[in-house]
Amino acid sequence: MSEEHQCNGDCGHCSHAAEERQRISDCKLRQNLAGVKRAVVVLSGKGGVGKSTVAANLAAAFARAGKKTGLLDVDVHGPSVVEMFGLRDAALEATEDGTIFPVEAHGVKVMSVGLAVPDPDAAVVWRGPMKIGVIRQFLEQVAWGELDWLVVDAPPGTGDEPLTVCQTLPEAMARGAVVVTTPQRVAAADVSRSLAFCDQLAFPVAGIVENMAGFVCPHCGERFDVFSAGAADSLAAKYDAPVLGRIPLDPRVCASGDAGEPFAAAAADTPAAAAFADVVAAVEASPVFRT
Ligand code: ADP
Repeated sequence: MSEEHQCNGDCGHCSHAAEERQRISDCKLRQNLAGVKRAVVVLSGKGGVGKSTVAANLAAAFARAGKKTGLLDVDVHGPSVVEMFGLRDAALEATEDGTIFPVEAHGVKVMSVGLAVPDPDAAVVWRGPMKIGVIRQFLEQVAWGELDWLVVDAPPGTGDEPLTVCQTLPEAMARGAVVVTTPQRVAAADVSRSLAFCDQLAFPVAGIVENMAGFVCPHCGERFDVFSAGAADSLAAKYDAPVLGRIPLDPRVCASGDAGEPFAAAAADTPAAAAFADVVAAVEASPVFRT
């Protein structure tokens, strides 16, 4: 607040009061996230490409490797993480002073809008300011504690939710985006906008994951490019970002998601599991996350 400002006690009509509230909220948020070393924001321009699957598996793999891990699902309108971590019946706990405790599953501290609404099947009908408020609340009031990795699952596109997350995560932590695409050109056009979004915000990009990249027949071992190929390479060239890995289509990835068990936590010995492991190693090695 400027030194010249004279308080007349009428906070409701004073722009300085709003500024002061914002300053206090920013300060609390930074304090609350002070123990978080790295944040990976999983983005995509398109729904259904496997963004939540990649986010859930990254988090599960970090936790399996003994890293302190959190998973924040800010996909307000389609919070898949609740299903993928088998948390449909989980209940949140909070203290009277507003601290919210994340739910623990597969060694990961999980927070999602899906945990905060009473009926997981109900449609969440919120406009921008409401979504922004809830995401800020998750960053400011959830007891994340000390974390090596906070994985954030953002909804598809470049709207309020990814914008709030990327603009709000403090620069003091190592932050970066993992952008998920499928191999076809139609997907690349949409995912390109997510990379342009990061460019515009000067938000660091760790790299691109190509999901549903071919299908390896479990009987003959032959590989088929179901959705053609090449999206990740063309995006990587256009935005000068590395390809972190290519995950094949595997019915077990889908089945494990439906069963509430992230694939990486099941540690199956398959080409898809090996591909997830490559992605995890590439994210860990990314200079963007060096602390
Ligand atoms: P998004 O978050 O991009 O909307 P999801 O992660 O919810 O996408 O994935 C959409 C569906 O595709 C889910 O049922 C998921 O289990 C399935 N899926 C994702 N990746 C794969 C894969 N590599 N092989 C098979 N199924 C997959």
